[in-house]
Parts: sequence; structure tokens; C-alpha cells
Amino acid sequence: MTAVVAAENVAKRYGETVALDGVSLSVDAGEVLGLIGPNGAGKTTLVRAVLGATDAEGSVALFGEDPRSVDRSRLGLLPQSFSPPARLTAHETLEYYGGLYDESRRVEAVLEDVGLTDSADTHYENLSGGQQRRVCVGATLINDPDLLVLDEPTTGIDPAGRRAVWSLLESLADGGTTVLLTTHSMAEAQRLADRVGLLADGELVALSSPSELIDEYGGQTRLEVGVDGTLPERIEIDHDYRRYDGRIVVRDVAPVDIGDVVDALAAAGVAVGSLSWREPDLEDVYLELTGRAVDHAGEAVDPGEVAVAGPTGGER
Ligand code: ADP
Repeated sequence: MTAVVAAENVAKRYGETVALDGVSLSVDAGEVLGLIGPNGAGKTTLVRAVLGATDAEGSVALFGEDPRSVDRSRLGLLPQSFSPPARLTAHETLEYYGGLYDESRRVEAVLEDVGLTDSADTHYENLSGGQQRRVCVGATLINDPDLLVLDEPTTGIDPAGRRAVWSLLESLADGGTTVLLTTHSMAEAQRLADRVGLLADGELVALSSPSELIDEYGGQTRLEVGVDGTLPERIEIDHDYRRYDGRIVVRDVAPVDIGDVVDALAAAGVAVGSLSWREPDLEDVYLELTGRAVDHAGEAVDPGEVAVAGPTGGER
């Protein structure tokens, strides 16, 4: 079967800046591929290269063809900054975008797909952030595309709006829509993508399913302990742990052992303020592979580690 997207060794420079450094990936029909990385990692450049919107080295095929000669009605693109006219209703907006194609879907059917039947007559500017973004996703669906390309579809919307967009994208994915999605939200990629490509400085550092990435690179469970006051110089406990500003993270603690670990920390002079336990996730994978975390605004940040200690030297 021909891949919907096939990119081989795609490279792009802007002067001295290496935006893409030899990226190869493919997206199969019915698959949701998520590209994750902080701002500046190269996500948009890769999307533009895949769509033939920018010249890049290497080769790209869309539906087995040169991206520039692909019939545009096969594509649904939601660019990062897309704002439809504010004074049109949701229905009029979709009608407007449908008019750009020779053939388009019924507006009512798309409104239903994006869960906005009841807001059809509300002006775009009066919709909530999540509803607005769902109209934008609707605009990408109006031509019944074979590939949806969504560049940071939930950036800048509130948590409720994000959840609404997530459930919309989940139902599209369940319906077999092929999606190439970029995001700086690891949670979004983990939730929506069948496979995830981790981009850092234009390089694809890993590409696999979220569960495989987490199994391979996520490490152990984390018990995060918020600490009141100062941390003692040495903390004698039987687990690996890492020290950060105002908190320590204890590794590989089974839920049933949390109480014992807290007792041991208290005995070691740690004033335990708060506790949270979690399984490793894609953020841990990104940190493990790139040494960097990504904050809520999408900026690459230092994880804020101040020292590493523990019975076995605190190896990550
Ligand atoms: P992302 O989408 O992950 O935020 P981009 O693909 O936009 O990353 O950018 C990758 C790198 O290429 C960044 O260093 C960015 O500053 C640079 N870049 C992107 N577009 C341009 C451009 N038109 N001119 C110069 N540099 C650019």
C-alpha cells in the first residue's frame, strides 16, 4: 500500500539555522502521526515540506505523487494561525470554505461531525475558544480530504476547549481519517497519536508508538514529593531519587510502598508537603532523549535539576 505521506531525508536550512536535519518518516492510511517538539524544533517546516509549500532537500511524496501536483481537494490543512472571518456564523463559515472547492460536503453533516449543530447560527466571534477551533477543524473537513494536516490544533485554547478538540480528533481517528498533527503538548500526542515523532533541533530523535517509546525510554514510575523548607544535604533512603528545586522525585516506587517511602523520607529529615505518583509518560521520554523539557507555552526548558543523588548514584 502506498503511504499517504513518505518523507526521505528531508533537510532545510534558513541561513545558519538548520530547521530540518535529514528527517525520514511515513504516514499510512488511517494513521494518526503526531510530531512533537518545542517551539523551533522544525514541526511547521516539516509540515510545509510535506505539503510542498517550501523547498527542501530530500524527497517527499503525498499519495505517491509530488506534493505540488496533488489535487488540493484531497488535503485538509489547519495552519497554526488560522482565523476565519469573525462576522460569519459557524454555518456560513463552513459554507464559505466549501465554496472554494468544486465539490464539498453538506455543511450540516460537517457541523454534526464537529459537534456544533446547536451553534450553527452563532457568529464565529461569539463562540468559545474550543468551539472556534472546532469550526476551523470543520473547515478542513468540508472537502472530505484524504489527509488532515493539523499544525498545533489546540495551541492557545483553554483546557475545556482542548478537551473538546481532542474528543473530536479522537472520533475522526476512530473513523479512519489519516492525520498528521503537530503539537508541543506531549499529553495531546500521547492521547491522539498512533505513532509519535520526537523532533529536536530539526532532528527526528525517535519515532514509534507512545507505549513503545514510554517502555523503551520512559524509565520507572515517579513519586514526586513537594518539600516544605530546605532539603537535607543527604537523604538516606532505599530508592533512587533526584533532587530538584523544592521537590524530590523518587524512582520505581510501587503504589503499595508509597507510605513506607514517605515514612523513610520523614525519618531522613524531609518535610513532605505534597505527593503525586505517576507512570512515566512522553515528557519523560522527551527529557531522556533530548535532555530538555517542554513547558506549557511550548518553550524548551531546562528541567531545573539542581543535583542528583541516591543509593546507586541516582542514574536516570
Ligand atoms: P516549530 O514549528 O517546531 O516551532 P519551525 O519549523 O517553525 O519550528 O522552525 C524551525 C527553525 O527554523 C527555527 O529555528 C525557526 O526560527 C527557523 N525558521 C522557520 N521558518 C523560518 C523562516 N521563514 N526564516 C528563517 N528561519 C525560519
